[in-house]
Amino acid sequence: MALLPILLLPDARLRQPCAAIDSFDPALKRLADDMLETMYAAPGRGLAGPQVGVMQRIFVMDTGWKEGRPSPFICINPEIKDASGCAVNTEGCLSIPNRPVRIERPAVIRLAWQDLAGRACEGFFEGFAATCVQHERDHLDGILCIDYPDLPETDAEEST
Ligand SMILES: [Zn+2]
Repeated sequence: MALLPILLLPDARLRQPCAAIDSFDPALKRLADDMLETMYAAPGRGLAGPQVGVMQRIFVMDTGWKEGRPSPFICINPEIKDASGCAVNTEGCLSIPNRPVRIERPAVIRLAWQDLAGRACEGFFEGFAATCVQHERDHLDGILCIDYPDLPETDAEEST
């Protein structure tokens, strides 16, 4: 495995849409392993293809590893099929260091994606995982968290 350099804003590749993946070969598995290693080393909870200069529709995430519950997730050609509710979370981005933003997004999503073998998968995500999936999927269309309104902190939300 190898650590990949993480691109930082204003690298133009962070603003470009990515191409669908249609080749599920050993090179894709190597890329996913390298992306996970790079994400853990950063350290982060999510990393999308364009952040390492790979203009393909892939991201990796692990929302539990920092709390000792590792759950690596490799997501290829993701498609949000359904979204409901809304939640405000503070999001950071490895490509935009030290610039957290408070963003409102749907609280629950139904996601379709492919795994490393090209198999079609589908599942529901909620809580921080839903936020993370939407943040990473945005990257594949050149959309960044700083594109959303940065909401002010309110007293009611401080306890969550
Ligand atoms: Zn990001």
